[in-house]
Amino acid sequence: MTRIAILLEDRCHPKECQWECQAYCPPVRMGQECIVEGPLGRPIISESLCIGCGICVHKCPFDAIKILNTPEADESEIVHRYGYNGFRLYRLPVPPARGITGLLGPNGTGKSTALRLLAGADVPNLGDFATPGTWPRVLEHYRGTALRAHFDRVAKGELRSVVKPQYVDRLAEEPLRVAEYVGGAGGSSARVLEDVGLAHRADRSLGELSGGELQLAAIARTLATDADLYLIDEPSSYLDIVHRLRIARVLRRLGETKSVLVVEHDLALLDYLADEAHLLYGEAAAFGVISHPIPMRSAINTYLTGYLRDENVRFRTESVRFVAHPPKPPMRQNVLVTFPELEKSFPRFHLAVGAGTLAKGETVGIVGPNATGKTTFVRMLAGVETPTKGTPPPGVTVSYKPQYLRANQPASLRERAAALAGDPTFDAKLFERDLVPGLHLEGVLDVALPDLSGGELQRAAVALALARPATLYLLDEPSAYLDADERMSMARLIRRQVERQAVSALVVDHDVYFLDLACDELMVFRPEGDDGARGRGDGPFPMREGMNRLLRTVDITFRRDAETLRPRINREGSVLDREQRSKGEYYYEAVA
Ligand code: ADP
Ligand code: ADP
Ligand code: MG
Ligand code: MG
Repeated sequence: MTRIAILLEDRCHPKECQWECQAYCPPVRMGQECIVEGPLGRPIISESLCIGCGICVHKCPFDAIKILNTPEADESEIVHRYGYNGFRLYRLPVPPARGITGLLGPNGTGKSTALRLLAGADVPNLGDFATPGTWPRVLEHYRGTALRAHFDRVAKGELRSVVKPQYVDRLAEEPLRVAEYVGGAGGSSARVLEDVGLAHRADRSLGELSGGELQLAAIARTLATDADLYLIDEPSSYLDIVHRLRIARVLRRLGETKSVLVVEHDLALLDYLADEAHLLYGEAAAFGVISHPIPMRSAINTYLTGYLRDENVRFRTESVRFVAHPPKPPMRQNVLVTFPELEKSFPRFHLAVGAGTLAKGETVGIVGPNATGKTTFVRMLAGVETPTKGTPPPGVTVSYKPQYLRANQPASLRERAAALAGDPTFDAKLFERDLVPGLHLEGVLDVALPDLSGGELQRAAVALALARPATLYLLDEPSAYLDADERMSMARLIRRQVERQAVSALVVDHDVYFLDLACDELMVFRPEGDDGARGRGDGPFPMREGMNRLLRTVDITFRRDAETLRPRINREGSVLDREQRSKGEYYYEAVA
């Protein structure tokens, strides 16, 4: 049993508090130096003097302290530690000579750190945070292990590696054209740009690209680099469902000859991409432990069950269950919202959406490539955008979570909720009792909204949206920035709230597992023509028909896993793939 004391430095504001952590600490009051002021003016918490009472955790006005007891972590297995009260990573995967290995785990458990260490971009300090890591020390420490061989080649410069960084939005600041950037690592850009579907943007400058296009450019540059080890950090962010599947195929081809490590939260994608995966468990920002490799199918099934038997670790109390969606009767009961045909003309884009109905208690997914008008449609229903043709249904109260979130007020989530208490358009009880725990927001209630991470802000925004009593909830890309676990629990929460209150929800998203868990029906958006000037939306259709319409356009088939009933992408050209294709059944046909 190891005690870990973590100070979240970005949340600690030692000039704006009364040093409650120190003032109330029982050992400090007994005269022991358990919490002292460090050289940077921030508290340093002694792990040997700490008695684990948790008082500082509760007293800190900024939720900046975590105290944990970790039976899982063995100190001899520590690979890297950021500072005295900083994050620590236990164990590293050993990349095989070829094939694709996945890393699957919650945000803040060290996945990006592991990639940088394996690439040699950072040298492991083996827990000694006071001095930078050195190769001789690393090689000595891992003597006789497979990691020693890996680091030996890294240290000698014999293993060429390339990292596709997680945060691609930063690329927009580089004053380069796409072709220059992609070819910049020495490779030729034309073919990879073609492969990832970005050839038409070759002459644009990076600053002019959308988030999804920046992601494709970053992936293209990585692919164009001649290396032995490819480390791909969260390739699906900002990509639509069509591009995710396309990238998956390109990366699989890479894995046939090279060693590839992928961090990914879209489980359908990771399942298809990787041959095996390491699960990560631990506590966000405090510590992370990397499991031994598990073959892909059981890796995801284990993850969904929430229990890693071999290491006797439970990382969730409830397992995630999928159900095969039965075909709906043709006449849906209990229509709640009817919307007419709606059109919107922008100077360079025209959107047409067919009339449809939404039933009571039903969550409807909206799928389709980027720039086909999904957000525009949702904004018309939200009353933010006025349709050029057609009128959104009158008398429908909506609650809207926009795609792009901005925290412009310094208030915390608790202060936000308190300001809304008593407001009839805010259900404070629901917020506190169901939404805050359901979206795991307890730990960040007192953090100023602009200080939240992307995933935390997303969960806060969804909680605030669901706390507004409404007939129709409009959630635009709620799974963005969430890890796989948060996606699964949010999907279930949305579904449960909508059913319980007999209302409707429209959810735009690109994650197939998220949609499958949350939704009963699907609306499908697609481009009309090749110039991106027109978009068309139809539905809602029953899940299976909607997925069929979407998947036909990307030529990919899914089956259901026999054990968990989760959807799985069929290998291209496999027996099932060919069978389903010939029958036009792209989704759900077979359980296997
Ligand atoms: P993941 O990729 O799994 O989300 P990261 O490897 O990015 O996790 O980070 C794990 C934790 O390590 C983060 O929560 C952060 O607190 C800490 N961390 C990451 N990079 C640094 C750094 N350069 N200095 C100090 N702490 C860091
Ligand atoms: P999606 O959500 O499917 O990615 P959007 O509805 O955001 O698509 O955008 C569809 C198209 O409409 C894009 O080409 C976008 O540039 C254009 N568009 C969206 N809003 C506006 C606006 N306010 N003015 C002009 N064009 C817009
Ligand atoms: Mg990361
Ligand atoms: Mg959108």
